[in-house]
Amino acid sequence: MPNPALLNTAPAVRPRNIRAVVVTSPEEVALGTRIAPDCGTNDVLIRPVVVGICGTDLDIIDGSIDPEFVRYPVTLGHEWSGVVVEAPAPGAGTSHLSAGDRVVVEGIVPCGHCAPCKAGDTNRCENYDEFGFTRHGAMAELLAAPRHLVHRLDRGVSMESGALVEPAAVVIRGLLRASPQPGERILIIGDGTVALLAATIIQLWSPGHVTMLGRRSEQAALAATAGVDSFETDPERISQDFDVVVEAAGAADAVTTAVASANRGGRIVLLGFPGHGVTVPLPIDDIVNGDLTMAGSFGYTSSAWAHVVALLNAGRLDFTFLVTHRYPLAKFAEAISALRHSTGQRGKVILDISSEDGATLLG
Ligand SMILES: [Zn+2]
Ligand SMILES: [Zn+2]
Repeated sequence: MPNPALLNTAPAVRPRNIRAVVVTSPEEVALGTRIAPDCGTNDVLIRPVVVGICGTDLDIIDGSIDPEFVRYPVTLGHEWSGVVVEAPAPGAGTSHLSAGDRVVVEGIVPCGHCAPCKAGDTNRCENYDEFGFTRHGAMAELLAAPRHLVHRLDRGVSMESGALVEPAAVVIRGLLRASPQPGERILIIGDGTVALLAATIIQLWSPGHVTMLGRRSEQAALAATAGVDSFETDPERISQDFDVVVEAAGAADAVTTAVASANRGGRIVLLGFPGHGVTVPLPIDDIVNGDLTMAGSFGYTSSAWAHVVALLNAGRLDFTFLVTHRYPLAKFAEAISALRHSTGQRGKVILDISSEDGATLLG
């Protein structure tokens, strides 16, 4: 259930400065003060409430992310939900937003006029721009976003589920590339948030059986909640008859396992990042003889994002169970460390920006 304390509307008195977790350059990350964002006439001013942290944030901190996709200094935070502080007047074709509305915001900001954008492939926009990568993200007390990227959450959707729309949109876009069919056998490699979301979301296609190949047995209970039928940690125990294989571990050997585990005619979707420049040898004959399809999937399209929001608002999905670690903004360093050094069961690590004085910033 949503926390009622998160629903407070704040008066529209904009502070000049806000606190934010900023990576000034690789290895340099700190909670500091930044000038509050400008809010243009078509922008919505939002107070982030729940912000997830993921491995990509660690890559941004470490400087190991492909430099094409980041611009320092950058405020972290690309998985988040928030509450509207100020919204523009209703325009043609857009439903009105009001202060206090609970929202999520597409992270990728498509230019809208390049060829991929016009074809609906907004994830491949030729003018790449993304909150938390090339523009300031949501680990901050305020964020301004273009109105057309803002989606309202219904009251029954938790802010935690909202914060997971971003990785869920990545997952649903990847799963659609594999065209799952009811009754099929699914293998998910990995046991982190993306893998657990894949297990949750694949249920929409009524799979015959879902196996997860994880690394840590402590993840088995979360996997079962997500809908996994069998959880394994030993690749030797994985059969070779899967119709759909989702690689969500981000490890080179996982790609080898994915190819070895697919049935003839199988579809393999790669969602993980083993690291910029990492390569792996593949058994080419087996891929050809197996009539296999391998697809990479980058980010999400605007339509994948809207799809996830519609499913949440319809009550068909709920990701709240995935949040296992929660920290206030001031303890962001502990949150990052919880992600780096996992022991025990670990789902999504979040910063709850409402749980300290950040909530009263505008009050
Ligand atoms: Zn992420
Ligand atoms: Zn574009």
